[in-house]
Amino acid sequence: MITAQCPECGYRYHESTANPREGFPPGTPWDAVPDDWNCPDCCVRDKVDFVILTDSAGIAAEIDVCRK
Ligand SMILES: [Zn+2]
Repeated sequence: MITAQCPECGYRYHESTANPREGFPPGTPWDAVPDDWNCPDCCVRDKVDFVILTDSAGIAAEIDVCRK
């Protein structure tokens, strides 16, 4: 699973949850997101600006902390 983070506002796209509000049902691969897709939170950054986070244990723990 890939997690991609917006460098502007910190929004994170998780493939497992995706973003149904944006038209991407849970499980949508990051690769399936259009390159011209904007960050839904800040609308400043495009997909190409997002930072890909790996699936390491450290990152996963951080995601859990940040989940609201
Ligand atoms: Zn953003």
